[in-house]
Amino acid sequence: MNRIIVITSGKGGVGKTTTSANLGMALAKLGRQVALVDADFGLRNLDLLLGLENRIVYTAVEVLSKDCRLEQALVKDKRQPNLVLLPAAQNRNKEAVTPDQMKLLVNALATKYKYVIIDSPAGIEMGFKNAIAPAKEALIVTTPEISAVRDADRVVGLLEAQGVKQIHLIINRIRPAMVQANDMMSVQDVQELLAIPLLGVIPDDERVIISTNRGEPLVLSENPSLAAMAFENIARRLEGETVEFLDLDSANTNIFSRLKKLLRTKIV
Ligand code: ADP
Ligand code: MG
Repeated sequence: MNRIIVITSGKGGVGKTTTSANLGMALAKLGRQVALVDADFGLRNLDLLLGLENRIVYTAVEVLSKDCRLEQALVKDKRQPNLVLLPAAQNRNKEAVTPDQMKLLVNALATKYKYVIIDSPAGIEMGFKNAIAPAKEALIVTTPEISAVRDADRVVGLLEAQGVKQIHLIINRIRPAMVQANDMMSVQDVQELLAIPLLGVIPDDERVIISTNRGEPLVLSENPSLAAMAFENIARRLEGETVEFLDLDSANTNIFSRLKKLLRTKIV
């Protein structure tokens, strides 16, 4: 069965595009055929994160206006041949595309690609309806902040109203030291508020920002970071594997919590 997954959120800037790029790459690395669809018409940035911006000739809009074939608009990734990108058009009226047209494009891709991953704008923005229209599954990305979690909750309702029933949660930018100091919501707090099954937790890591700026998804890096491993684990969970959640606490710099852990293991 082909998978059509929208990566979405309530609030902007929480890591949807970062997740789309890294998850797409991670699935491609596992040998799956992946098509990434940039549905954030107007704010095109999935191409930048993937470092493919200079290779774009046509976009989804030219496919829809029949100025090119779908295959012509797909940008193949040279580093990872299992991955293609369908770029969004910039500087176009976002209403130029309808939900039905999005369905057409995505369903055509789904005949050839095992995973079609749609990078969506936030739930409050225009274009959100287009992005979720073709989706069979949704991954909601949130950061552990009250405002993001509250907006994520609204998006769950919108998705359910659209008939998207398979919804999973990704919590991004967790900082274990802050959670421990009670300065940040914990994974458990967020999960209890949203009550949707958790698919992954990604630590806050400045290497994510560096990779964004370089146009090289973190999962392609030679020496894997915890954040890259977190994305790879999400890919494996999507594939149906049972993968334990990373112990992010052991990676923090809080000397006391490390000592506490050390002592605990000694006693046991
Ligand atoms: P969205 O697509 O939801 O608007 P982006 O994926 O563009 O969000 O991410 C917004 C910003 O947050 C980017 O600058 C990105 O590098 C940064 N970011 C995302 N995830 C992380 C993370 N885990 N650690 C550090 N920075 C992150
Ligand atoms: Mg984005």
